Amino acid sequence: MTTTPDPPLGGNVGPSAEPLTAEQEVLDEAAQVMEDLEPIVDMDPLDNPRRLLLVHAHPDDETIGTGVTMASYAAQGALVTLVTCTLGEEGEVLVPELAHLAADRDGGLGEHRVGELAAACEALGVKDHRFLGGAGRYVDSGMMGLPSNARPGCFWQADLDEAAAHLVAVIREVRPQVVVTYDENGGYGHPDHIQAHRVAMRGIEVARDGSWRPDLGEAWSVAKVYWTAVPRSVLQAGIDALRESGQENFFAVESADELPFGVPDAEVTTAVDGALHMEAKVAAMRAHATQISLDGPFFALSNMVGHEIMGMEYYRLVSGEPGEQRDLDGRESDLFSGVG
Ligand SMILES: [Zn+2]
Repeated sequence: MTTTPDPPLGGNVGPSAEPLTAEQEVLDEAAQVMEDLEPIVDMDPLDNPRRLLLVHAHPDDETIGTGVTMASYAAQGALVTLVTCTLGEEGEVLVPELAHLAADRDGGLGEHRVGELAAACEALGVKDHRFLGGAGRYVDSGMMGLPSNARPGCFWQADLDEAAAHLVAVIREVRPQVVVTYDENGGYGHPDHIQAHRVAMRGIEVARDGSWRPDLGEAWSVAKVYWTAVPRSVLQAGIDALRESGQENFFAVESADELPFGVPDAEVTTAVDGALHMEAKVAAMRAHATQISLDGPFFALSNMVGHEIMGMEYYRLVSGEPGEQRDLDGRESDLFSGVG
C-alpha cells in the first residue's frame, strides 16, 4: 500500500528536472575534471631562465607538431608550458574498444583525452600543462563546416578577448620569452586551430599592455613569436616516403603543391633538430592512442624516415629578431637564439 500519490505521467516534478543548457553541462563537466586533477606545477616559473609557451588546439597537436621541440627544451631545463584550448571532444576514435566515447555515441572522449595528454606530457618531460580557462571551458568545434561549429561553448564561438584573457593570465604568470602557435589558417584550416592562433596573437598583444586587465598581472612582452611550419620540401619527402611504403592514400596527392599546409621553404626561418628526442615523441604519440593509429602514417613516417622528417620541427619567426646562430641552411636552430 502506498500513501503518496504517483507524480503525473510524463510531467516534470520540480525545478531539478529542468533540462540543463549545453553550456552549463560543459561547465559542470569541466568542474568535475578539474576536481579530479592533481596540481601539476609546484615551482616558481621564474626560477627557469628560459621559458617557452606553446598554444595548441587539441590534445595530440602538441605531440604531432612540436613534440621534439618540447622534449628537447624540457630536457635542457627550460620551462615548457603547454596551453591546450579544448579537450578534443569531437575527435575520431581510432581504438575500437573505446569507440563508445565518440561525441556521436556516449561521449566522454574529452575526459579520456585529458588522461592521454597527461601521459604524453610525461613522455615529453613537460610538467606545466594547462587547459585554456580550465579543462572543458572551451569545447572542440569539430571540422570546418560542421553544425558543431555553431554550438554554444565551442571554441570557434568563443569571445576573442575573453579567451585571450585566460591566456594573458598565463603569459603574465610564466613570462615566456618565446611563444609558439599556428599561422592564420591554423596550419590546415581547422576552426579550433584558427581560433588558437587568434587567441594566442591577441593574448601576446594585450599581455604587454599594462592598462589591459591589470588584475591579470604585470605586463609582459614576449620577445619572439613563432608559427609552426612544414616546409614544402619536407612535406614532399613525406609524401614520397609514404607512397614508397604503400600508404599513398593518406595525402591522396602526388605533389606537396596540392596541399593547403606546406610553407615555401624560403619562408621557414627556424629548424629545431630534435632527433635525440624522437623516442619521447613516439612515446607521446602512443599516449594519444584514441587519435594516432599505430598503423597510420605518423608511425609509418617515424619508422621510415623518422630523423629527417619527424625529428625536425620547423617554424616561422613572425615577431622579434632572429638570433645569429644558424644551421647549414641558414636557419635559426634555437628558438631562444638572441634572447637575453
Ligand atoms: Zn588539432
